[in-house]
Amino acid sequence: MDLDFSEDEIRRYSRHILLQEVGGIGQAKLKAARVLVIGAGGLGSPLTLYLAAAGIGTIGIVDDDRVELSNLQRQIAHTTGRIGVPKAASAAEAALAINPEVRIEPHTVRLSADNAAGLIARYDIICDGTDNFATRFLVADACVLGRRTLVSAAVLRFDGQLSVFKPHLHEGGPCYRCLYPEPPPDGTVPTCSEAGVLGAVTGVMGTLQATEVLKEVLGVGESLSGRLLIWDALATRFRTVRLRRDPDCALCGQAATIKDLSQHRDVSAPVCAV
Ligand SMILES: [Zn+2]
Repeated sequence: MDLDFSEDEIRRYSRHILLQEVGGIGQAKLKAARVLVIGAGGLGSPLTLYLAAAGIGTIGIVDDDRVELSNLQRQIAHTTGRIGVPKAASAAEAALAINPEVRIEPHTVRLSADNAAGLIARYDIICDGTDNFATRFLVADACVLGRRTLVSAAVLRFDGQLSVFKPHLHEGGPCYRCLYPEPPPDGTVPTCSEAGVLGAVTGVMGTLQATEVLKEVLGVGESLSGRLLIWDALATRFRTVRLRRDPDCALCGQAATIKDLSQHRDVSAPVCAV
């Protein structure tokens, strides 16, 4: 583990290094970590900013959209002055303005069956902050097949959900398809662009998502694998429910039938962040 921090880095991360659960060793783990953020939107904005501030050494950002005026009510990595700029580049600029010590890799591409496995293989932890089921299932499948930890957050209106899926590391831990075996039929579940979302709700959920990423990298606390966090902002109520692995899961079960990403080949999967 490379513990070679500059004077400035030691000062920058001093409130982390003070924590017994982090310390110099933990900060070195954060520096060595590679995290991929899929969707530089309402979830991806606070997520990317906190990961960069925390000193995650390499952060990839996948998004094929450009910043629009209607994004700015919640996507706080972007600015009015950057309307029209690719979101991955805009989020990279915001993250580097906070912490120039980290490396940001913007990928202005649409995630597809052809590039998902290769992109995901380059990172240790994958974060899903997208707003459509085509991309969510593609990411979930690619993470299980590529043996990568998936930290997945979702928001709609005043509600948020969060979980960690790492069946390759957690005996009995579920994958995303143990929870949702198949995408819902088109048009049955609205997206945020159809149903709306309170901006601050995405901020809380993206920040919780960042916290779970840091816990996974540091190996501290109780992992959210095997549990689903549900937040009802209108009622101000958090609850967690148990999730179990489905032994018959088509993706992670004993007789799994999903062996590659071919079922996603004909699906158009825009990153389309929340
Ligand atoms: Zn499964």
